[in-house]
Amino acid sequence: MKPHLSPEQEEARASFRAFVDEEIASRADEWHRQERTPPEIVRRLAERGYLGWTLPTGFGGGGRHMLTLGLLAGEVGRGCSSLRSLITVHSMVGHAIARWGSRAQQAAWLPLLASGAKIAAFALSEPGVGSDAQSVETRARLDGDGYVLDGQKKWITYGQVADVFLVFAQCEGAPCAFLVERNRPGVTIEPITGLIGIKASETAAIRFTDCRIPADALVGRRGLGVSHVAAAALDSGRYTVAWGCVGVLEACLEACVAYTSERMQFGVPLKQHQLVRRMITDMATELSAARLLCLEAGRLRDAKDPAAIAATSMAKYFASTAAARAASNAVQIHGANGCSSEYPVQRYLGDAKVTEIIEGSSQIQQITIAEYAYQEYRGIPRNAR
Ligand SMILES: Cc1cc2nc3c(=O)[nH]c(=O)nc-3n(C[C@H](O)[C@H](O)[C@H](O)COP(=O)(O)OP(=O)(O)OC[C@H]3O[C@@H](n4cnc5c(N)ncnc54)[C@H](O)[C@@H]3O)c2cc1C
Repeated sequence: MKPHLSPEQEEARASFRAFVDEEIASRADEWHRQERTPPEIVRRLAERGYLGWTLPTGFGGGGRHMLTLGLLAGEVGRGCSSLRSLITVHSMVGHAIARWGSRAQQAAWLPLLASGAKIAAFALSEPGVGSDAQSVETRARLDGDGYVLDGQKKWITYGQVADVFLVFAQCEGAPCAFLVERNRPGVTIEPITGLIGIKASETAAIRFTDCRIPADALVGRRGLGVSHVAAAALDSGRYTVAWGCVGVLEACLEACVAYTSERMQFGVPLKQHQLVRRMITDMATELSAARLLCLEAGRLRDAKDPAAIAATSMAKYFASTAAARAASNAVQIHGANGCSSEYPVQRYLGDAKVTEIIEGSSQIQQITIAEYAYQEYRGIPRNAR
């Protein structure tokens, strides 16, 4: 089922799709094997305005709707989840600065991020801290007219190449967010390789040792680093991850429809076997459902409706778990070929698994969604439901 889009949205989607088909889809397996994203493709994303798609026009951004950012993430995710994750983390930092940065930070950073002249990464997780983000152990101490950072970050998507990191640290017990350039003395970056999925996303561990940063590196107020700044970034990240999963679902379905139409077993194409068709049924249905949840989240975001936060959690939770189911079934349908690197479904499986963990794992989404359900449906009389 094709999504119902306005003519402008359909036009945007068609141009994203053509770009992904021409420049991404056929090269994604190679990038995955090399565990690297060529700078040329990042430049191409930047040239097309995709790295600043929704940032304010006053700061060089495209000022586009969140819904079309979703369509972009969906199409890029169909071709390459690693590249989609570049759009995710770069947009997370851009949105956090647009929402919580000072006027000076917005003027300094947003034009650079919007044009892709600088790439941004999101540095929250640590070796000992993941889901419980408030308990980050990286320390920032006040020193003269600035701060000194000490600590470690881990699993930082595009950390190997990013020019600036949005770093979360405790300053005298108050969680804070800071913008830290990679070339500051005291910043050490170590590549992380061998991940199960999103392998081309040049992930890194980052160490801060006596790293001096100026006072104006602080984003938002002290104490609001995780509850407000990280929350805004993660909300944005969940949205593009959810759409990226719609792309993975679509890629799985396309691969399986093609494969089952050609591969013969027991004298007929695989698609004649009912048990195979059942897996196709689930994929097609869950693709439609995931896309509808993402479209709803996008519309609510564009309407600045507070319900967008819960809608985004639901979209991310459903789309990521559905993508993992679809990718597992896509490998199943491809048999031994699905287990080999000759077919992309193996890549989809690892990529989809990662989306159940990042930007708040499925369990963290379940907790958030249940909380929302208890508030939303509290006190509604039985006969009014
Ligand atoms: C490929 C990849 C890229 C990443 N990129 C980034 C990045 O760019 N920036 C960044 O900051 N981080 C990044 N991360 C880290 C990611 O955000 C964390 O992995 C995620 O937040 C989960 O944290 P954790 O891995 O420490 O798991 P933990 O928090 O240790 O959780 C382990 C398990 O326990 C479950 N669990 C935890 N708490 C609860 C609870 N209260 N109730 C029920 N179950 C619970 C979790 O759902 C999970 O299944 C990345 C991770 C991966 C794999």
